[in-house]
Amino acid sequence: MASRQEMLAWCDEMLQVGLYKDYAPNGLQVEGAEIIDKIVLSVTASGAAIQYAAAQGADMLLVHHGMFWKSEPVTITGWKGKRIANLLKNNINLVGYHLPLDGHAQWGNNVQLAAKCGWQPEKQFGEQNLLNLGVLPDEQNTLAKLAAHLETVLGRKPVCVGDFSGSLKRVAWCTGGAQGFFQQAIDAGADVYITGEISEAQYHLANETGVAFISAGHHATERYGVQALGAALAEQFGVAVDFFDENNPA
Ligand SMILES: [Zn+2]
Repeated sequence: MASRQEMLAWCDEMLQVGLYKDYAPNGLQVEGAEIIDKIVLSVTASGAAIQYAAAQGADMLLVHHGMFWKSEPVTITGWKGKRIANLLKNNINLVGYHLPLDGHAQWGNNVQLAAKCGWQPEKQFGEQNLLNLGVLPDEQNTLAKLAAHLETVLGRKPVCVGDFSGSLKRVAWCTGGAQGFFQQAIDAGADVYITGEISEAQYHLANETGVAFISAGHHATERYGVQALGAALAEQFGVAVDFFDENNPA
């Protein structure tokens, strides 16, 4: 059992939220119970995740993708109204950490993905240090081998563009919807860039630069940060945590 206020102050400090310029508020987004016994973790504060948290009697839903994005309608109607009503009715705190939970040196999605996949991280770079550069192990040194490994680890077939006959060593990556950073990865000298999503333009860029591109899934690449943060909260505050996964193909 822990006080919400104490727990959030700890998270804000550990995740260095002040360092990031973000598209949604980090920390408490919808206020619920003051005392926390049970936390449900989820990639996204979807209607299904809120429903699950309510069924579990959770006091907090902790997510990577919260609500109140800059591009979102501000009125509390439709799907948004339903989500918020369900949170309030069940006294569930909605807590979201976005970019701070991508970039964190220990619990971040980026470092967690590298650990899952067996890549050796060398440095963070680029916009808000969200890009990462590292070295692939020999067992993953071609596009075919790397793709097969990603499919095994993430349980989802990646979309790959590039030369399947070449050998790969330097990998750049950024979890989530970071296809727009491909040029920065090319400029940094990567042989392959891995992110969660692909747009039309990356196909051509991969073919014309010789740097391979892999879209491994936005949801699939961002499952691990919130679970690492949840494990740290369980250890620090003695609360129960439970991860809710969704079969999101995007
Ligand atoms: Zn994301």
